[in-house]
Amino acid sequence: PAPLGPTPKLVIDLERMQQLPQDKAGPLARYVATIQSQRGDYNGRVLSIRQEDLRSLAVIYDRSPADLTEELINWGVLDPEARRAVDAF
Ligand code: C2E
Ligand code: C2E
Ligand code: C2E
Repeated sequence: PAPLGPTPKLVIDLERMQQLPQDKAGPLARYVATIQSQRGDYNGRVLSIRQEDLRSLAVIYDRSPADLTEELINWGVLDPEARRAVDAF
């Protein structure tokens, strides 16, 4: 692959997430709320999550990490750049 720089971070757009229907975003929103609580990080417009958290979320959504990443990009909560983070798995 072309040298595109370091693996991008997985950055969840929290405002966008809150606009999505519960049946889609509910599990993601609960997971994110847990991380915010553990960090004491409640005031951001975005939240950076761990690569391994995407694996856990994929299990929760019963999808592959790559499929879930596409879904999150479609919903607008992840930047398309995030595809490269999943390629790094
Ligand atoms: P922990 O995993 O034992 O991490 C302890 C502290 O190390 C964290 O405190 C943070 O200051 C730092 N730290 C660990 N890994 C990273 C990292 O990849 N990047 C950065 N910037 N700092 C890191 P903090 O933030 O108060 O978190 C407390 C605990 O909450 C963590 O303990 C972990 O158990 C949980 N946690 C927080 N954020 C996440 C997350 O995004 N994913 C997961 N799976 N757990 C998280
Ligand atoms: P970055 O990681 O590219 O984040 C850019 C901005 O996005 C941050 O600006 C912050 O406004 C927002 N942001 C990203 N992730 C989170 C998150 O998990 N929670 C919240 N509340 N906001 C988030 P900021 O805070 O001025 O930081 C600028 C840069 O400084 C960051 O760029 C990063 O490179 C570094 N930085 C700040 N805090 C930490 C930290 O705890 N650990 C590490 N390793 N770098 C940090
Ligand atoms: P970051 O802080 O810029 O960290 C980038 C990568 O460096 C992390 O990717 C992880 O592989 C490694 N790293 C940084 N700090 C630590 C550490 O204390 N212990 C270990 N074992 N590795 C560390 P990762 O895990 O995919 O995390 C991506 C981003 O998610 C982090 O970027 C940070 O913005 C956020 N994050 C992850 N875990 C925590 C946490 O526990 N607390 C906070 N406040 N932020 C976290």
